[in-house]
Amino acid sequence: AIRIEGLQKSFGTLNVLKGITLTAREGDVVAVIGGSGSGKSTMLRCINFLETPSSGRITIGGEPVAMRADGSPADRRQIERLRQSLGMVFQQFNLWSHKTILENLIEVPVHVLRVPKAQAVARAERLLARVGLAEKAGTYPAFLSGGQQQRAAIARALCMEPRAMLFDEPTSALDPELVGEVLAVIRDLAAEGRTMILVTHEMKFAREVASHVVYLHNGRVEEEGPPEAVFGAPRSDRLKQFLKSVG
Ligand code: ATP
Ligand code: MG
Repeated sequence: AIRIEGLQKSFGTLNVLKGITLTAREGDVVAVIGGSGSGKSTMLRCINFLETPSSGRITIGGEPVAMRADGSPADRRQIERLRQSLGMVFQQFNLWSHKTILENLIEVPVHVLRVPKAQAVARAERLLARVGLAEKAGTYPAFLSGGQQQRAAIARALCMEPRAMLFDEPTSALDPELVGEVLAVIRDLAAEGRTMILVTHEMKFAREVASHVVYLHNGRVEEEGPPEAVFGAPRSDRLKQFLKSVG
């Protein structure tokens, strides 16, 4: 499980997160929705300390992240370890352009985690097949479509055998006709019971795959609940307005 309690984050005088509490239990798919600038990416980035929280508590797999009073990590090695246990997928695919797809997938397992190369390759090939890219192992990212690159990025995250996946708008940089193939992969991961936190603008998809939906507004959880409630019977006027604005 991932648990966030009272998470606050400021950039200088700008208060971006104003005390966020959220739990993703094992097997939960938590969809995070909200307008531009509401703090969705910042929250996700705080969870794996790509951003330093200003205050609050984060617990991953029952293990509290050791934080100093100013929110900075007290134990760098713990952060490294926890970060490796969370597979992060961004809007931009961030593949290494000078490495083949297979090399992208085995780079960290082999050179950082010291997984034997044959084992890392076998795992990478299995995951590439799973996301429909078995034929692309030897190809460089530039020769793949955006949808293929994003599927490769998901496979790369899975190669780390993460305990949970964090997705930040994984389809919003894609041409509309490529969105479906990436959502299909995420849907597949949800179906196998993977824990995930998914920031998305795809409301239909969120409604379909999420076990829990969190609506962020201006750095706060404005409303949350099961998808039927959040999408079907929103209570807050802001959420109603937001849902109307995204169609
Ligand atoms: P979007 O839907 O556009 O991706 P978001 O909900 O992900 O929006 P964030 O990227 O978390 O929003 O940004 C929240 C606020 O924090 C914005 O006002 C943004 O300008 C600000 N912000 C984010 N990162 C930084 C930073 N490194 N320095 C200063 N301000 C930042
Ligand atoms: Mg964002």
